[in-house]
Amino acid sequence: MLGKLARWLRMMGHDVEYSNSMDDSELLTIATKDHRILLTRDFDLYRHAVAKEVDAFYVEGQTEQERLAELAARFDIRLEIDMATSRCPKCNTQVKPVSKREVASRVEKNTFEHYTEFWECPHCGQIYWQGAHWTKIKETFRTAEQSLQEQKKRSV
Ligand SMILES: [Zn+2]
Repeated sequence: MLGKLARWLRMMGHDVEYSNSMDDSELLTIATKDHRILLTRDFDLYRHAVAKEVDAFYVEGQTEQERLAELAARFDIRLEIDMATSRCPKCNTQVKPVSKREVASRVEKNTFEHYTEFWECPHCGQIYWQGAHWTKIKETFRTAEQSLQEQKKRSV
């Protein structure tokens, strides 16, 4: 249910495991074993986690922007992407800068012409660049930041 949020958090540099196939007890076991914070929209799972002393956060936001704002407020995380620490949204591996020459045969002609900086996931091989979608990413962070400021005002 939170797959999209998991991808955002990975891009923001956080180590995030995601599964929509594990049952509650598997999730709780992994969270405990790997010292992870369990993020969930399932209130029963959240309750079980708290009862078992697993660090957990119940995600209430309806939109990605609201969810990011909640997490920023709770965990004091920065609403931005730093490519030096960014992780592959698909597989959670930290991406590495890669030269334009190395991606020559691996991206579309238009992309190759228009961009100079590229990153590669060493695990799944996905190539990343700050393309047209980057404007949307920044817009999402801007809206999340506004939502965060409003949350702060309400909680004062
Ligand atoms: Zn990857």
